[in-house]
Amino acid sequence: MPDFSEGAEEPAESAAGAGPRPAFDTLAIHAGQAPDPTTGAVVPPIYQVSTYKQDRIGEPRGGYEYSRTANPTRVALEECLMALEGGGRGLAFASGMAAEDTLLRTVCRPGDHVVIPGDAYGGTYRLFDKVLRPWGLAYTPAPLADVAAVRAAVRPETRAIWAETPTNPLLGIADIAALAQVATDAGVLLIVDNTFASPYLQQPLALGADVVVHSTTKYLGGHSDVIGGAVVVADPELGERLAFHQNAMGAVAGPFDAWLTLRGVKTLGVRMERHCANAAAVAEMLGRHPRVAEVYYPGLPGHPGHDIAVKQMRGFGGMVSFRLADGEAAALAACERAKLFTLGESLGGVESLIEHPGRMTHASAAGSPLEVPADLVRLSVGIEDVDDLLRDLEQAIS
Ligand SMILES: *Cc1c(COP(=O)(O)O)cnc(C)c1O
Repeated sequence: MPDFSEGAEEPAESAAGAGPRPAFDTLAIHAGQAPDPTTGAVVPPIYQVSTYKQDRIGEPRGGYEYSRTANPTRVALEECLMALEGGGRGLAFASGMAAEDTLLRTVCRPGDHVVIPGDAYGGTYRLFDKVLRPWGLAYTPAPLADVAAVRAAVRPETRAIWAETPTNPLLGIADIAALAQVATDAGVLLIVDNTFASPYLQQPLALGADVVVHSTTKYLGGHSDVIGGAVVVADPELGERLAFHQNAMGAVAGPFDAWLTLRGVKTLGVRMERHCANAAAVAEMLGRHPRVAEVYYPGLPGHPGHDIAVKQMRGFGGMVSFRLADGEAAALAACERAKLFTLGESLGGVESLIEHPGRMTHASAAGSPLEVPADLVRLSVGIEDVDDLLRDLEQAIS
């Protein structure tokens, strides 16, 4: 079997000369997941183990010493995610937030500054405001769709630009290549939270970003059964520093969680195709509905980021947000009347979810510059039958 673990820097021919680099859907199933050398098991076993035998002092038999440092199931996931993002190193964490925290405490020091999105994920905003600001890391929210505003927000002590695209919950689109240019000019890192798009739809490193962050809880895991996070970096040297902090801080993914995530990743491509098709149909229906004031979906030609989304994404994703013409009460009622769309936080699973960002996922941003409209409803459109989904939404908002 060819070695699928090379990063983006590798030539199209694999090092082993075994042919062209496999395409995304092949990497999702095989990268980092060669059959187990001892048993032939075709999927990586769950190595539920903390420590490993050393043949002599300092000579671990299989290269593993202790599972906080490295664990074979986690390594399989890390190599797979690295391949899917075309990076030089992948690291798996206990959650998306753990990945973000470890990353930021690796690349920033107290006294530094980060530019963050004007409508960042609520938990990311809370991490910056309530945990990292007291630690000494300053931040400035900037509207990422406005490249000049991002450039203007960069200061001498800025270490990174943190981008999310599409954003949560307003589905704003940032031009990753343009932000990469701003970051390069300023000598700072461009970090992209690629959770909403998944690597199947968008590959920020190829567009010039330095770091990709994921909540693997969402599309990568895809089945609402595991919490996890990941960081993929282009530069292996930064990858080494991150691995040091991953081990030193210890917020690692456990073997079973890594295994569940790997199982989900295998079907990422086929799931994303259906998520995109169903979300497009939902956005189209909402756009025609008299009780809907506004629809946010980058696939709609009228969306302000549509042209950039066409340029940098393979599809427009499964997330749709909309505002009710009759205000907050109508938004709350729609969330509670939906039946097939389950009322719940999170996103990216096979089942459709509905939520009220103002009271649920983004409640922690209330009163801040990142506060979301009270009449907003967010949908994570799943892969159920599309007619059933449309019928349920019709009854929920009518
Ligand atoms: C969910 C999410 C996170 C946080 O990930 P957890 O796995 O919940 O810790 C970060 N960014 C985005 C965009 C998310 O949706």
